[in-house]
Amino acid sequence: MSDFVLKGGRIVDPASGRDETGDVAISDGVVADSGPVSDATVIDATGMIVAPGFVDMHTHVREPGREDEETVASASAGAAAGGYTAICAMPNTDPVADAASVVEQVWALGREAGLVEVLPAGALSKGLEGRKMADLGEMARSLARVRLFTDDGHGVQDSLFARRAMEYLVTFDAVYAEHCEDAALAAGGQMHECPRSMALGLRGIPSEAEELMAARDIALAKLTGCRLHLLHVSTRGTVELMRRAKDDGVRVTAEATPHHFTLTEEALDEYDPLMKVNPPLREEDDRRAIVEGLADGTIDAIATDHAPHAREEKDQEFTYAPPGMLGLETALALTITQLVEPGHLPLTRAVELLSTAPARILGMDGQGAIRAGAPANLVVLDPGARWTVEPETFQSPSRNTAFAGRELTGRVVHTFFRGRQTVRDGAVLHGALT
Ligand SMILES: [Zn+2]
Repeated sequence: MSDFVLKGGRIVDPASGRDETGDVAISDGVVADSGPVSDATVIDATGMIVAPGFVDMHTHVREPGREDEETVASASAGAAAGGYTAICAMPNTDPVADAASVVEQVWALGREAGLVEVLPAGALSKGLEGRKMADLGEMARSLARVRLFTDDGHGVQDSLFARRAMEYLVTFDAVYAEHCEDAALAAGGQMHECPRSMALGLRGIPSEAEELMAARDIALAKLTGCRLHLLHVSTRGTVELMRRAKDDGVRVTAEATPHHFTLTEEALDEYDPLMKVNPPLREEDDRRAIVEGLADGTIDAIATDHAPHAREEKDQEFTYAPPGMLGLETALALTITQLVEPGHLPLTRAVELLSTAPARILGMDGQGAIRAGAPANLVVLDPGARWTVEPETFQSPSRNTAFAGRELTGRVVHTFFRGRQTVRDGAVLHGALT
């Protein structure tokens, strides 16, 4: 394995508080102590940021089941291109990842692709049906060592089921992650409920569909002591619930997606199915609350909710198109363009949101920090580079981005996974790890 020296970059490591110009050496797959590494490939990082590789808590890999939309390998490549060194694979596959055999399959495919660490999430309930508990303990003890459990795509409707799942998960300190959505309130909803949904004649999903379940789960997390993670927070009310819960000492964390801190319901004026997501794009006041929450620590992490869909599915009429959009290859640039450039938060906080915090929530050793002797999971990025989003260049076989043609700031230049270069000058090095 070749060694590297990343020379003269700004080293940003929120885990240690380090923020200084210097060199980072990689030797035998780990961050080297210090001093020159002989025969190393020198990479000029002048003017660039050297940060711990990003960790996405929320990736839909679509394998097994919809390999035409995405595979573990293509999601891994997209992740590496986006500066990630780890992703958490959501369990709503076909079959559902509700047993050890399925999470081990996804985990093994991730190892085979070798571009990022793939940590499968496990379903809370069998078949995501919200009735019978999935094999939680078995998945935690499997080779995949599942640490986050969720029925993402659905909220857990039965409060007693939610309580029992938390009571079980707390015994091995796993995370209960919720897609907060009251199914009865949201039923048939196509977009955020607001004056615009009335004007467009589309059935609305009220903010309360999210907030009621967030409030319930916070109460149950307090009751059981279980670690709770709220997926894709989209409303001001949920941000406020989070703030109060943290003040109360509840063990709760939350994530927000780049599309929720970038777009609002105004994007739906053209009935463009690419703008259809779940939870839906909300109003400007909600978007602003999410930005504030990301800046002040109420929201812990930026997660993509990367959701590939085949062209023929997104080409349907708005009401028939499935919700979701791609996220892995635009997350960093949207973070810099929407949050850092306008001065809402500093770059160090952006790195914390993309890397350090999600690694900590998922309990991933060797991710989210630059530490001598630890696996070299690193990203080198150019924070000032301007580029235009071209979906045809994405690693995913799917193309459903809301940002085609948009000019963004901030680009991933190199990525290293366990000391091996997975991205060089923006290009994914396929097969580098066979
Ligand atoms: Zn979800």
